[in-house]
Amino acid sequence: MNCQYCNSLCQKAGKQANGRQKYLCKSCKKYQQASYQYIACKTNVKVLFMKCLKTGNSLRGIQTITGIALTTQIRWIRKIGKAVKPRCYYRINDEYELDELCTYVKNKEKRRWVISAISKSSGQVVDIKVGTRTAKNLEVVVKKILHLTPRAIYTDRLSAYRSLIPKEIHRIKHRGINKIERYHLSLRTHIKRLNRKTICYTKKEDILNSLIKIYAWY
Ligand SMILES: [Zn+2]
Repeated sequence: MNCQYCNSLCQKAGKQANGRQKYLCKSCKKYQQASYQYIACKTNVKVLFMKCLKTGNSLRGIQTITGIALTTQIRWIRKIGKAVKPRCYYRINDEYELDELCTYVKNKEKRRWVISAISKSSGQVVDIKVGTRTAKNLEVVVKKILHLTPRAIYTDRLSAYRSLIPKEIHRIKHRGINKIERYHLSLRTHIKRLNRKTICYTKKEDILNSLIKIYAWY
C-alpha cells in the first residue's frame, strides 16, 4: 500500500481494535488504514463539511446528512479556526468600514457582538473580534486598522468610536457602512447560529469565533 500523504511505501503495523489492518509509512511515519469505517476519516469528507458549514447548516444537520459526529465537527472547527489567518493584501491609504453584529451566547441574557472591519476597496475582511461591545474590544480592531495607515474609517454612531479613532479620519456618514452591513447580512444567512428569530444560539463563544473566522478566511 502507498501512503495517502506522501505516496511512498507503507508496511503492515498491527491491527485496529475493530480488526482492520493498520499501516505505517516508512518516510513520513504516519499510521493509516487502506479503508476506513468511520466516514470522517475518509478523504474529501472535510471539503464537504466546510461547504456545509458555510451554507447555513446546523452541526446537527450536518451530522444527519454526512454522518460526521458532533464531537468530531467541533474538534475540526476549533482546529481550523485557530489556524486560519486573514488573506488580504493591505494597501496604504485605503478606507475601512467598522460595524458590530449582535448575537447571544447560551441564552438571551448573554449578548455578544461580532466586531469586524472590511476594506472599502477590496471588500476583504481585515479583522474580527467576538466579545462584548466594550471600548476595550473595539480598540483591538481599531488599533489593527490604524496600524494600516488608513485614509478614512467609517463607523456607525456608537460613541466609543469617537475616543478611539482620530477625528481627521473618522467618518460617520449616511450609507457609509453599506458594504459591511451587507456582509453581516450574509453572515446571518450563512451561519446557522446567527439566523434571526430562532432559538438556536451558540453555546460556546470560541466556536462562534472560529466559525466566523472560517467563513471569512478559509
Ligand atoms: Zn507517508
